[in-house]
Amino acid sequence: MGLVIDIPAIVANWKALAAKAQGARAAAVVKADAYGLGAARVAPALYEAGARDFFVALAAEGREIRPLLPEDARIFVLSGHMAGEDLAGLVPLLNSPEQFFRDRALRPGGAFGIQLDSGMNRLGFEPGEWAAIRAEALAAGPQLIMSHLACADEPEHPANAQQLAAFRAMTEGCGVPRSLAATGGILLGPDYHFDLVRPGVGLYGGEPFAGAQPVVTLALPVIQTREVKPGEGVGYGYSWTATRPSRIATLAAGYADGLARALARDGKLVLWAGDHAVPVVGRISMDLITADVTGLAFVPDALEILNARQGVDAVAAFSGTIGYEILTSLGRRYARTYR
Ligand SMILES: *Cc1c(COP(=O)(O)O)cnc(C)c1O
Repeated sequence: MGLVIDIPAIVANWKALAAKAQGARAAAVVKADAYGLGAARVAPALYEAGARDFFVALAAEGREIRPLLPEDARIFVLSGHMAGEDLAGLVPLLNSPEQFFRDRALRPGGAFGIQLDSGMNRLGFEPGEWAAIRAEALAAGPQLIMSHLACADEPEHPANAQQLAAFRAMTEGCGVPRSLAATGGILLGPDYHFDLVRPGVGLYGGEPFAGAQPVVTLALPVIQTREVKPGEGVGYGYSWTATRPSRIATLAAGYADGLARALARDGKLVLWAGDHAVPVVGRISMDLITADVTGLAFVPDALEILNARQGVDAVAAFSGTIGYEILTSLGRRYARTYR
């Protein structure tokens, strides 16, 4: 019952992606609380498995896991050095001339990395800015120079080769470890691997890493069941009406738990009782979901929405989103168990 997170599966996924990256070191991206699964559990387990490099989005996320990891673990902060931020024990990835000069003024000698924009236009030094500062930045001894791919989940997209060429042009001869690939980039092949790869979603069982082991099982408790007559409506707006004598189960989860109303928008969302698919009927409300269990011989204590057969990407498809968003929306109210 509740949310079960399979730590050995995360470790196995990290090892599988690390093996695909061949000679490159494999880091672990644990931003957004390890994609909603609990960075305090995930990061130490991956350290145990051999990971020494971790990436978070915000310094505050880094400060939360810093005490949980031995000193030789590096925690890179993707947002870099924002004004007023405490970066003790963390490695900011400096994104702009402004961040570079702020960091060097406030943390002279402090460990840092550089993030370059190779085309995504989101974070990082533009080529011209980098050219102007490159000699000074390299003299200060960055730990890493990185960039990020915009279209790595589409192997045929021409942006991949363009970004690769831009990254090479900006970093040729710099003598500093380089990193370009996240999960999608690892799967693009060795040209994209450089010295360090940064898998995130693939660790947690999401596409585009098709070979990922499933990580999350989410079983929603059944609170009660009732018999509904033909013509009776169920839930807000009576958006579903019984056409036959039906048995309806009410489950303890809703959009406040990250199960968006849009998941039920076209009436195709199903839950699972073992091998049996159970259709969700009516609207998803804040705390409750209703499902038509008429076809079940008996109603179990809980129905699964995420399991090995219906993973985060399959659920995402019901509402037109991506597995990343399903993971990072998983609610705080679920009883969590770590395996
Ligand atoms: C989120 C992120 C990653 C991890 O990406 P996945 O697609 O989840 O593997 C790597 N690098 C950067 C800069 C990111 O923002």
